[in-house]
Amino acid sequence: MPHTAPTTADATAEFADLLRVMNRLASADLVNGGRDVVDAVFTDVRRMRGWVDSIEVQATRLARRLRPAGESGAAEQPHISRGGRSTAGARAAADRSDVCDQMPLFEQALSGGDVTTDHLDAVARAVKGLSLDARNAFTERQDDLLRHARTESVDTFARRCRDTARAIASQLDARAEADRLTRQRRNSKVRQWLDQSTGMGHTHIELDPERHAALLAALDARVASRRQSDHSSDMSFNEVQVAALLDVLTGRGGDGASTADAGASAESRSGLPEISVIVDWRTLSQGVHASSVCETIDGIALPAQTVARLCCDAEVLPVVMRGTGEVLHVGRSRRVATRAQRRALATMHRGCAHPNCTRRFRVCQIHHVVPWERGGATDLSNLLPLCTEHHHLAHEGGWTIELSDDRYVRWTAPDGAVIHDGSSADRSPPGEPDRGPP
Ligand SMILES: [Zn+2]
Ligand SMILES: [Zn+2]
Repeated sequence: MPHTAPTTADATAEFADLLRVMNRLASADLVNGGRDVVDAVFTDVRRMRGWVDSIEVQATRLARRLRPAGESGAAEQPHISRGGRSTAGARAAADRSDVCDQMPLFEQALSGGDVTTDHLDAVARAVKGLSLDARNAFTERQDDLLRHARTESVDTFARRCRDTARAIASQLDARAEADRLTRQRRNSKVRQWLDQSTGMGHTHIELDPERHAALLAALDARVASRRQSDHSSDMSFNEVQVAALLDVLTGRGGDGASTADAGASAESRSGLPEISVIVDWRTLSQGVHASSVCETIDGIALPAQTVARLCCDAEVLPVVMRGTGEVLHVGRSRRVATRAQRRALATMHRGCAHPNCTRRFRVCQIHHVVPWERGGATDLSNLLPLCTEHHHLAHEGGWTIELSDDRYVRWTAPDGAVIHDGSSADRSPPGEPDRGPP
């Protein structure tokens, strides 16, 4: 996008305005001034900074254009060698100039001080990783986004950008978000090292948001129960945290009665702590939209398909909201299989209902074949035990499962191929299926 040079008259007017701002700044009483001085200075600094930043954007663009053919990083280089920036800072500046190339309205607003580089950084972060189509769709909304950027705090605006990018990506490719979580799961890791100088051992755990939420829930529940026990009363917060983490890792239950008390609200029937996920009804029943809320209690975004899977899980507490923000549904009433239903399912199924799976019933989640959020009942005829891996296939993997009244199950791959069609009740005696009393 070529930058159009301002006319001489515009430039003169802008320069005169900037000179006035600079004079005010130079003469501001920054020692004895009142609140009005503080407000005026920050407003003027923003104006000056916007102007300087927009010049830097243009210079970055020029640096890129002047680069010798094939040289990468030309846009970053002058930021490092002349601008005194870190590598990360230089990259952020180059990303900002990309945003301005795609969204020229934002460049204008930057030069006038209406938006700041923090707004541009929020846009850059949101569009990173988007496909070309999705990026174009995002750019088409620059009018609307700019209107919000002018009035919203940067944090609110950043969230808006993130949600907009997410809604666009999932409209273009429903699988993209689920694929990202799959990648995050695969990239999760634990690293350990010993710091020779202090003699301390380090353990760094990097986890996808779903399992990180589960870890934090387990840790929080353990901290809460330790806080209630007398032994911990003279321990520092750090000490309690460490002790709780070791409890969780070593599977130590703790100190009897106090654990049970503290766990009453935070732990579910199985004794495992609950994770909470927050989702709005429209996202759950129809998929991600422009104002979706679909995240862990800590505000980490989750794919809608993942939240739907978590809703099958007894250890997860979904909080479903209306579009207006009020809570529509909390908890497991009518959603999760009862003990009697679990027993009946265990009688019919030795384990996971996937044809090639040998995982036992004990480790399975009870899946709603027709999801409860689409009207599926918590009836035996709609419930099927699935292990974690195959539960993932059902929700995030794009597979379709159908269950007939006599528990014949049909697995259809995302490409439409039927992979399995047969009885899933593997405890029934071999031979002719006995269809029971007429
Ligand atoms: Zn499920
Ligand atoms: Zn399985």
